[in-house]
Amino acid sequence: MAINDQFRHKTVCMLSCRFCSMHVCKRGMKAMLLADMTVELYSTDIPPSSVQLVGTDYKTNMCSCKIRDIACLTCGNAIGYHITMPCQVCLHSCNNGHFWMFRTEGVVAADRLNGIGKSEWGADCLWSSASASLPD
Ligand SMILES: [Zn+2]
Ligand SMILES: [Zn+2]
Repeated sequence: MAINDQFRHKTVCMLSCRFCSMHVCKRGMKAMLLADMTVELYSTDIPPSSVQLVGTDYKTNMCSCKIRDIACLTCGNAIGYHITMPCQVCLHSCNNGHFWMFRTEGVVAADRLNGIGKSEWGADCLWSSASASLPD
């Protein structure tokens, strides 16, 4: 419950590739790696259309999730990874459906609250209202 609550009050951010500035995700959420709280990441729940899976599945030594790198379609640089097969630990500890992760070295985040393209983003700033169309 606590995790869910925090999650709902996070801001939605737009992510751009750090290498070519191409927009890669408009439903990003700042996240922490459960296994290592010092690592900051951005995550999303929808397969981003501007990235592609590269290479083969691998595991880190932190848990048994199977992950695969994702690269920017425009410049080809690896900017994050996709959890292709979440492990039981991760599924149970924070099952928020966010299986696409962007590394801070790979992307630049912009807060939706900063007014960029207001009509496009609207009141869609918090995850709790991201799917509702609220008036300003
Ligand atoms: Zn895991
Ligand atoms: Zn790029």
